[in-house]
Amino acid sequence: MVRKILTFPHPILKTPTNKVDVIDKEIETLVKDMFETMYHAEGVGLAANQIGESLSLMVIDTKPKRESPPLKLVLINPEVVHAEGSLSYREGCLSFPGLTIEVPRYNKLRVRAMDLEGEEREYELEGFPAIVFQHEMDHLMGITFLDRVNGLKRRLALEKYSKLQKQKA
Ligand code: ZN
Repeated sequence: MVRKILTFPHPILKTPTNKVDVIDKEIETLVKDMFETMYHAEGVGLAANQIGESLSLMVIDTKPKRESPPLKLVLINPEVVHAEGSLSYREGCLSFPGLTIEVPRYNKLRVRAMDLEGEEREYELEGFPAIVFQHEMDHLMGITFLDRVNGLKRRLALEKYSKLQKQKA
């Protein structure tokens, strides 16, 4: 089922998510909904709290960006084990429709998460997939890409976003 994506400044986006205790039918359905919602919105990553479920769970599929090979992941209770290098990329966010911000990120990550079978796994991510992971990881901690920039950059982004919101209204 395609769910409604909550947009800034919805308070759930500012709240750190809770760990997933058990992977049950509800979690399986939620993951299915998250993929459907993400594909429908033409995104490459989605965090559970973006559709109103305050749980530490994200999905990623880099296929729409023609990454090769495309990477499709379900990450439950994810954490960063190691991070290095840096790059920046002009990111978009499904919770800030129309807005893009250039955000500094790590280039290379080693991350650990549970998969849908409940297995703990580690993944090496580099470049674009690493950016997507960090963007979604921020969501799970109650942080948005707006919090990753300061001063003038942040002010301009906020002005742009409120203009976009007014055009929509
Ligand atoms: Zn986002």
